[in-house]
Amino acid sequence: RAKNHGRNRYSYFTADLHEQAQRRMRLISDLRAALAAQQFRVYYQPIVDLADGQVFKAEALIRWQHPALGMIEPGQFITVAEDTGLIIPIGDWVFEQALNQVNQWRCQYRPDFQISVNKSPVQIRQADKTSSGWVQHLEQRQFPGDGICIEITEGLLLNTEPGTLKKLREYRAAGIQVAIDDFGTGYSSLTYLKKFNIDYLKIDRVFIAHLETDANDQALCEAIIVMAHKLGLKVIAEGVETDEQRRILQHAGCDYAQGFFYGRPVPADEFAARWLAAGDGHSPIR
Ligand code: C2E
Ligand code: MG
Ligand code: MG
Ligand code: MG
Repeated sequence: RAKNHGRNRYSYFTADLHEQAQRRMRLISDLRAALAAQQFRVYYQPIVDLADGQVFKAEALIRWQHPALGMIEPGQFITVAEDTGLIIPIGDWVFEQALNQVNQWRCQYRPDFQISVNKSPVQIRQADKTSSGWVQHLEQRQFPGDGICIEITEGLLLNTEPGTLKKLREYRAAGIQVAIDDFGTGYSSLTYLKKFNIDYLKIDRVFIAHLETDANDQALCEAIIVMAHKLGLKVIAEGVETDEQRRILQHAGCDYAQGFFYGRPVPADEFAARWLAAGDGHSPIR
């Protein structure tokens, strides 16, 4: 036991930084190989209409099925993908998956279905395929752009470079909708709300987590909802985990909700079976 303890202390003091650096190097080289090795998966989480409990759309969330480490969540690798530029080909791949998926689900189940795709600022600023190339590609396939919504964070819209503006205009011209993700946690400037054509505000889950007990969070949510509606935006609450949170949000006039209370992100076939195929798409726990 003493020996073990000693070893742990040794590794704590000397090996950790080295180990961290090595793990990052390995992560980068694994990440480089992962796309070709088809190790990425797209999971889908329902976004539910609070008025009737029906599934409204889905958010596409990437997962990495690592051969040795198992399923890795995006929090573990998106930053590294951004730092290395790998987010561009990975993001294009996610977008293509979502596009094929929404086409299939529209044909099979719901002609108005939509899938939300996350885009990091790095993707918007750099020339990913979703710029002119993809928009042309979409038009050629006569794809109704409103099948896709892109989720961006507030920070992107703070100091807008001409390229960012151009990109957002191209999306909109193709009919693609735009959501502000993690609303309320980024920069506090609201000027972008009047400068840009935005469709949805997604209230970050830090404002939802303590909704039952925190009067300030309740006040903030109510104010965000009123403001958004006056600006003509729809509101999605993120991270809804309890029926009480759902009830408070519904009472406050929130439009849509997403969270473990309704369902976790799942593979496409599971999503279709639970939310699209079985009758009317109503949540059993409405
Ligand atoms: P996000 O876009 O804000 O996505 C919502 C995250 O909250 C997801 O985490 C989801 O699983 C989680 N979540 C949903 N409901 C609940 C809930 O009730 N409670 C809690 N505690 N969490 C909930 P996930 O899938 O780990 O993704 C994390 C972040 O990674 C995303 O945050 C997004 O910023 C980024 N991300 C995911 N997929 C992509 C992608 O394809 N491209 C880019 N650029 N970023 C992605
Ligand atoms: Mg998102
Ligand atoms: Mg979010
Ligand atoms: Mg986020």
